[in-house]
Amino acid sequence: MTGPLYLDANASEPLRPEARRAVIETLDTVGNPSSVHAVGRAARRILEEARERVAAALGVAPATVFFTAGATEANAIALAGAAREGRRLLVSAIEHDSVLRASPRIEPVPVTGEGIIDLAALEAALAANSRPALIAVMAANNETGVIQPLAEVAAICARFGALLHVDAAQVPGRLPLGGLAGHGIGSLVLSAHKAGGPKGAGALVLPGGWWPGPLVGGGGQERGLRGGTEPLPAIAGFAAALAAAEAWRAAGGAERLARLREEIESGLSERVPQALIVASASSRLPNTVAIALPAVAAATQVMALDLAGVCVSAGSACSSGKVAESHVLRAMGLGPLAASTIRVSLPWDAPDDAPPRFLAAYAATAGRLAARAVEPVPA
Ligand code: PMP
Repeated sequence: MTGPLYLDANASEPLRPEARRAVIETLDTVGNPSSVHAVGRAARRILEEARERVAAALGVAPATVFFTAGATEANAIALAGAAREGRRLLVSAIEHDSVLRASPRIEPVPVTGEGIIDLAALEAALAANSRPALIAVMAANNETGVIQPLAEVAAICARFGALLHVDAAQVPGRLPLGGLAGHGIGSLVLSAHKAGGPKGAGALVLPGGWWPGPLVGGGGQERGLRGGTEPLPAIAGFAAALAAAEAWRAAGGAERLARLREEIESGLSERVPQALIVASASSRLPNTVAIALPAVAAATQVMALDLAGVCVSAGSACSSGKVAESHVLRAMGLGPLAASTIRVSLPWDAPDDAPPRFLAAYAATAGRLAARAVEPVPA
């Protein structure tokens, strides 16, 4: 019997074997990396080797990498630090909730209908007020996969002396990691479990020397940026996953996912012509497609597909387990379609038959749901 077809990689990637090995090898480490004795020093070595691996994958200095509990925490540290410095917080309207909800002082910057930050609006917002600012623009959106024009954003930031914060949680294994931190970025965020590592680790990378200060000071770990004994198995697994994801991508893994996604998209236009591909004209992550089925609630689609053995999500995976209308799709001006869109995100280990299996389930679901009376879509 085959298990469910997992197409929700943007919520969490399956563990990569390299990460599993690193986690298991590290589980028995006794010492605390902060202890000065030999056992503590052995633990410290594992921590610093992991830091070197993450730094090497990004092409930055190890001293600029700070481990956190994940992307949420890393985003929170950066935004809280910028707010403490009195900076304006200009944030693209399609950021993850961990950015949008990091401070009540967030000023959203609109995006175009194709899901790309509106550069003219960003410039206008910066020109309107000369207070120092932090600009948060994600590298690629988790719901639509749309890749953001970081080089252009960085040029605008440089012109106005603004600090650029980049949530790159969805990048590993999909886009090159090297050079990502080279746009004059002030802070960059990664998450282990989005790269095929374990849940519970991530990093805040500060390549330009900016120091946001801690949210939790505690015992001064991570050179004072993030207190708390470092979870070595999660961190070692994170470093191994990041290196493996990058090597896998460069060896053709991402291209294979792009081919599978293309098979899904072309199959959709033949078999479910009423379905619409969101932001189809934009550059997108190779593994991601957001699909709108007019007048059918996303939650209904997700549940019907789940019953058919296919795991996808509606917009982003909601922490409550409930499906709320996507703020990303709303910001793109999708109107009622925002409540009728599902996200398909292929994991690194997607099987070759993922496209036909998804298409069969989706076409059957769409046919059955269309045959029913049109449901009211939540406003
Ligand atoms: N940023 C983005 C773009 C994400 O997709 C996610 C996870 N959905 C996060 C941040 C939060 O990551 P974590 O689970 O590591 O806190």
